[in-house]
Amino acid sequence: MLSELNALDQEFPAFFSAAIFILGALIGSFLNVCIYRIPAKKSIAFPGSTCACGAPIKWFDNIPILSWFILRGKARCCNAPYSIRYPFVELLTACLFLAAWLQHPHAKAACLLVFIPLMISAAFIDFDHMEIPDRFSYGAALSGVVLSVFVPSLHGIVEPNSLVAGTKGLFESLIGIMIGSGLILWIALAAETILRKEAMGFGDVKLLGGIGAFAGWEGAVFALFGGAVIGTLGFILWLIAKATVPSLRAKKGSDEDDRIVGKQMPFGPMLVAGALVYLLLLEKEVDQYFELIQRLAQ
Ligand SMILES: [Zn+2]
Repeated sequence: MLSELNALDQEFPAFFSAAIFILGALIGSFLNVCIYRIPAKKSIAFPGSTCACGAPIKWFDNIPILSWFILRGKARCCNAPYSIRYPFVELLTACLFLAAWLQHPHAKAACLLVFIPLMISAAFIDFDHMEIPDRFSYGAALSGVVLSVFVPSLHGIVEPNSLVAGTKGLFESLIGIMIGSGLILWIALAAETILRKEAMGFGDVKLLGGIGAFAGWEGAVFALFGGAVIGTLGFILWLIAKATVPSLRAKKGSDEDDRIVGKQMPFGPMLVAGALVYLLLLEKEVDQYFELIQRLAQ
């Protein structure tokens, strides 16, 4: 069976890429449900998709990415506008799945297909509600540790003895959790002392621990500092977009308005962006950079 799948992969390389992309879009569609229902303490399984007016959404109006464009962003039943965020989350998940598949050997890519949905959910829920439900950060930490034992190549470990490899993977993952959580905790404590106000929530501490379980300590460190840079750039772009597109502007005094003025900034989406840039784009470069620093320090 496995050799037949490999033969299929070699004969039609685009087949699996397309399948992974579609899988990502379908999972993205489910993530939209999770992002909306989990903070509201609603079941993610029942009822099926319904419109805000209460009418059930037919399957052919619920095709990931495409339906929003076919319906031009309006519900068929009552013409209520649908946020463009729904197709965006679906497209984002699909693209990240495809990137993981194309960037990494299949075993590592499969691990990342577990990581990506957890991170997308955490990032969007944090953006909406300024909180990260524990199930995503603990979920990432736990699944990261387990996968690191069974797929040590997740951390670049190549080792003929699978017992040794699994033990090394376990340590990489645990060190990632400790460094990730510890680093952000100490920075938050220092910031609180200096600024004399609460700088960061425990949600971020747990989330960076979960990221470390998959990305190792190098990935956790990059997610924190790289994420801060990416977040700042994204924030500037968002401000420019707001200033130029009137429909994006938040109402004065709304939650979102408060956030834009800088009273409250969710840090989770930045950590997630940093983690994904590391795992899908810059892993080799970042690891080489840390190795260089270690060599210079000796
Ligand atoms: Zn409706």
